[in-house]
Amino acid sequence: MNRAILYSNAEPSPKQREKFVEFLRGKYGEDYELVWEQEEVEGNGFRLAVGTEVYDWSLQGRLAQLRETLQKVKAEGKLIPLLKETVHDWVPQALAEEIGTVESVGDGIATVSGLDNAVYGEILIFQGGVRGMVMELQQEFLGCILFDDDDNVSAGSRVSRTKRTAAVPVGEGFLGRVVNALGVPVDGKESVREDGYRPIEHPAPAIIDRQPVNEPMETGILAIDSMFPIGRGQRELIIGDRQTGKTAIAIDAILNQKGRDVICIYVAIGQKESSVAQLTENLRKRGAMDYTIIVMAGASDSDPMLYLAPYSATAMGEYFMEKGKDVLIVYDDLSKHAVAYRAISLLLDRSPGREAYPGDVFYLHSRLLERSAHLSDEKGGGSMTALPIVETQNSDISAYIPTNIISITDGQLFLEDDLFFAGQRPAVNVGLSVSRVGGDAQTKAMKKSAGALRLDLAQYREMEVFTQFASDLDDTTKRQLLYGQGLMRMLRQKQYHPMSQHQQVAVLCAALGHCMQNIPETHIETYVNRLISQMEQTQSALCNKIDREGILTDAERTQIQEEAKQVAEQFIKETE
Ligand code: ATP
Ligand code: MG
Repeated sequence: MNRAILYSNAEPSPKQREKFVEFLRGKYGEDYELVWEQEEVEGNGFRLAVGTEVYDWSLQGRLAQLRETLQKVKAEGKLIPLLKETVHDWVPQALAEEIGTVESVGDGIATVSGLDNAVYGEILIFQGGVRGMVMELQQEFLGCILFDDDDNVSAGSRVSRTKRTAAVPVGEGFLGRVVNALGVPVDGKESVREDGYRPIEHPAPAIIDRQPVNEPMETGILAIDSMFPIGRGQRELIIGDRQTGKTAIAIDAILNQKGRDVICIYVAIGQKESSVAQLTENLRKRGAMDYTIIVMAGASDSDPMLYLAPYSATAMGEYFMEKGKDVLIVYDDLSKHAVAYRAISLLLDRSPGREAYPGDVFYLHSRLLERSAHLSDEKGGGSMTALPIVETQNSDISAYIPTNIISITDGQLFLEDDLFFAGQRPAVNVGLSVSRVGGDAQTKAMKKSAGALRLDLAQYREMEVFTQFASDLDDTTKRQLLYGQGLMRMLRQKQYHPMSQHQQVAVLCAALGHCMQNIPETHIETYVNRLISQMEQTQSALCNKIDREGILTDAERTQIQEEAKQVAEQFIKETE
């Protein structure tokens, strides 16, 4: 005989039992055996489970039904009197609700049977209040990632649908805060008042809603702004081995946005809590937290949280982008994100491919990074610039995840550990780094002053290799080597010291005008600092103009070079 389970606070009387059996006969045309199980049901109600369907007579169920009716009336656009009438005529009735059962649970993943109509990405609610998201649809079961601790979910417990997809709270209130992948503050301060919710997964802006990247997003790092400029709406990958200064570049880029009306979002994926805390403190000390949100899925968080974090953070960024603002988002780092996704996929029984990653690992990052864009003026003209970070092993940029992300992004900054340990920091490898769109976004002043820098450095590197073992070099070669060494020295920059545009322009004009030629390599840093402070004193009008308008005339360049030569002569006299 078919069985139906009745949940209620108190055992039903024989009369009530008879009524339920009759209801089931009317509904299904068959006789049912009624089994009673005691359970706390709100409002002294009942819950009747038949297979995967549940009839809810609890207070909550009735309220849900009322809400649904009201929504229907609203959607149909009936007038308010009619609405009143409908509510008046409304009688609570039982609605079948789909209920599933947990088959297995572990590692932040649960498999659920019985929810035949659940869709991909839907939020499910587990008995006890834990929420999860559908990630895998199979014939017999569905795989679900859990948002809370899986200790609170047990096999055999009930699961219900919400018919909604995952969303995060967004708003101005999040600036200056550290939140987790679901937008919940984790910095121990008061809760945030959100301005609304946005879906975690969202399609990227369409082609007609975009415009070309044509405005600079200055990082304040000389080596980057001069040779690999980044534009607003661009995706520029930062790639390198561990401990080569990847995070440092991203943090300096965030610091440089101070006073430029750019919203920054830093997503920490799988990092130690202590290093994120230190980084937050660093940003706060330098006044950068006022315009920054930190989204954190730490090393101790579950893989599903690591998987969600970049998507949630992007949703928060889109909120600002669609309001016409400029956003800079840093994903630190996507290799750990891919590893978390690999773990989830394997637990969900998906078949492994190359390096055991699932087949859709390219889509994992392409759909994320495509959401960064420069919106058209009709759409408000906002932008989101992405700086994804990828960690390589042994500088192997041809591994699976690095090649994938290199092909998605608009260029990469390749950091080399040899350079880093030789003291050349930031350790940008000039030969392997590239920016595919940023050149259009470089200001005229920058273009003019940085002109042949890349070429000169390429020549220097080539010559350095050839002359490594030669003992007697002619004067021209010696001069060229010195010039190259000087350029490399000039590109060294301390952490947390972003340079403004006029400073970069001054240094570049001086270096490329061979004004530093006679300065010993070890003194270049002191000379550069002297030059900048002198320029700022004697030619503050020109400095301001470069910062404001981004223009430099030939005469002005000569003027800077004259000054640089003077400073150099004096400098050499003093140091001798
Ligand atoms: P990880 O692989 O651990 O994430 P990473 O590549 O992000 O490392 P960072 O943490 O940014 O590297 O930098 C490593 C160390 O190098 C830090 O101690 C940092 O302070 C130092 N460093 C980075 N850039 C510079 C720089 N330009 N000048 C001096 N020190 C730097
Ligand atoms: Mg790092």
